[in-house]
Amino acid sequence: MNKHQHEILIIGAGIAGLSAALEACYGGEVAVISKVFPIRSHSVAAQGGTAAALGNMEEDHWEWHFYDTVKGSDFLGDQDAQAIFCYDAIKMAYYLEHLGVPFSRNENGKILQRYFGGHYSQFGQGPPVRRACVAADRIGQAMLHTLFGECLRRKIKFYNEFLVTHLLFHKDGCCGCIAWDLVKGEIHIFHAKLILLATGGYARLFQFSTNSAINTGDGLGMILNAGLPLEDLEFIQFHPTGLYPWGFLMSEAVRGEGGYLLNQAGERFMERYAPTKMELAPRDVVARAIQMEIELSGNPYVYLDLRHLSEDFIQERLPQVKEMAFKFAGINIKKELIPVAPAAHYTMGGIPVNIDGEVLADGKKEAMPGLFAAGECACISIHGANRLGTNSTMECAVFGHRAGKKMASLVKKTNYLPLPKEQISLALEEINHLFVQPPKISIAELRQQLQVSMMQNCGILRDQSRLKKQLIIIQDLKEVYKKIGLKGIPRTFNLAFEEVWELRNMLNIAEAVVISALAREESRGAHYRIDFPKRDDKNWLKHTLIWKKEDKLNLDYKPVVITQFPPSERFF
Ligand SMILES: Cc1cc2nc3c(=O)[nH]c(=O)nc-3n(C[C@H](O)[C@H](O)[C@H](O)COP(=O)(O)OP(=O)(O)OC[C@H]3O[C@@H](n4cnc5c(N)ncnc54)[C@H](O)[C@@H]3O)c2cc1C
Repeated sequence: MNKHQHEILIIGAGIAGLSAALEACYGGEVAVISKVFPIRSHSVAAQGGTAAALGNMEEDHWEWHFYDTVKGSDFLGDQDAQAIFCYDAIKMAYYLEHLGVPFSRNENGKILQRYFGGHYSQFGQGPPVRRACVAADRIGQAMLHTLFGECLRRKIKFYNEFLVTHLLFHKDGCCGCIAWDLVKGEIHIFHAKLILLATGGYARLFQFSTNSAINTGDGLGMILNAGLPLEDLEFIQFHPTGLYPWGFLMSEAVRGEGGYLLNQAGERFMERYAPTKMELAPRDVVARAIQMEIELSGNPYVYLDLRHLSEDFIQERLPQVKEMAFKFAGINIKKELIPVAPAAHYTMGGIPVNIDGEVLADGKKEAMPGLFAAGECACISIHGANRLGTNSTMECAVFGHRAGKKMASLVKKTNYLPLPKEQISLALEEINHLFVQPPKISIAELRQQLQVSMMQNCGILRDQSRLKKQLIIIQDLKEVYKKIGLKGIPRTFNLAFEEVWELRNMLNIAEAVVISALAREESRGAHYRIDFPKRDDKNWLKHTLIWKKEDKLNLDYKPVVITQFPPSERFF
């Protein structure tokens, strides 16, 4: 058996994991585990920008950003965390600049900023404000590569292409994990004082998705299996503009830079849904408007129009969008319309944590010693029921950094807890069992059934009967899953093992998503119930908590933290 000991272990090498590693290493020795090579982490896909009220293009203030984030979240975000986020985002943008992130520049040599949906001036009363810090349309690549380079410079140890399967707990806290070396097909035990999960989101539960295939919510799956709670899983963001029919993202930057939406009749239909903010209304509003147009016309997509933008402007500001439309759909965006439809993009729910990234064992106040989470897998909750574009990469950086700092402050005062022998043998038995059963079931088929049915029954427009139907489908798929086997398939480079493990997490999370969505009888942000179309603050101004006990999922709720902006109706 391969055994390793590290003071601080970070699972996930996206923007959140690497930001945490860079701070944690000031306090102790750090290792990072990632199931893909770090710069292939999903963060690399981020396009449009990262939010900070720098005011480089016109007047802006962190308080305006705070208000927009609260309103964007449909008042379900926790305002204590949202205030810290918007305030710290400004410092973080300069920190990233000094680390070497190659931001685009305005005519004064400052970081270039662009418009993005939901970001306005004057506490939502004024015109849109350019708040998204830009690196052409490749912000993820710029941030991830810079952070990874810095981690290498600081000699942080990486275990790449290692799939973490189980977290290990002593009665006094989290103390390690089990990982599968994807290349060699060997099991490794990791012993650590402090562990941070930064494993990303779960938008791959859906067939039409902007996400890379690795976004299967593994961290959440491990938390659920450990009997710990997850928060607000029902809130899944559909990005308005996925390139039809694949789902590749046509960044919101396109609309920020002046792109329009047109329906089949050539009408700029946002006039009917968000007359003042039009295409720059928040994502939930624009995605729902597109879905309504799709259902009205029977055509599976609407159009994005960029034909009025100049060739040079497109090349400078939107080179990736131009390239993707051409490579994947053969479309010349200067001359042709781009077919787009809403695609599952971001998952607001996740592992409940406090503002220092400590995982909350009861989902409310009590921290689980030794365990942290940051980034898309965590729920702090900044985004509440709906995330504003560009707030995610910045959340990963700000709260990854904070969690890293907290770990650095704790690590020398923390002892290694003994590893739990019984948990390890049960986990190994579970893994080995897969290699005993013959491979009679198609993993890809099972996954597709899940993704297609989630899209149909738990997508943008939901109701009780569709959600109930979906719950039965998932429970049936879970029964089939039990028959999956890998007998006779060599363990080295066994990618089927990874797919099986990811599917296991996806099935468990999907069930928890549907149960959470079924219970929430209102419409708020990204969660839209046709049978309960109004937001209901009297009964539902609260976060959902869901956890597993003896194979049964249980629900509970906790209040939203409101410090400054009382809930009001949203108009755009
Ligand atoms: C196409 C696209 C464009 C976007 N554009 C923007 C944008 O312009 N601005 C913005 O703010 N946000 C954007 N987002 C959202 C943003 O990119 C993500 O929310 C953010 O990058 C998530 O980062 P993360 O560090 O939490 O996780 P990720 O970058 O997803 O990294 C997860 C890490 O966890 C590892 N991992 C997962 N499971 C395991 C396991 N079992 N074992 C070991 N390792 C594991 C993976 O290998 C990976 O390293 C975009 C998203 C998409 C899909």
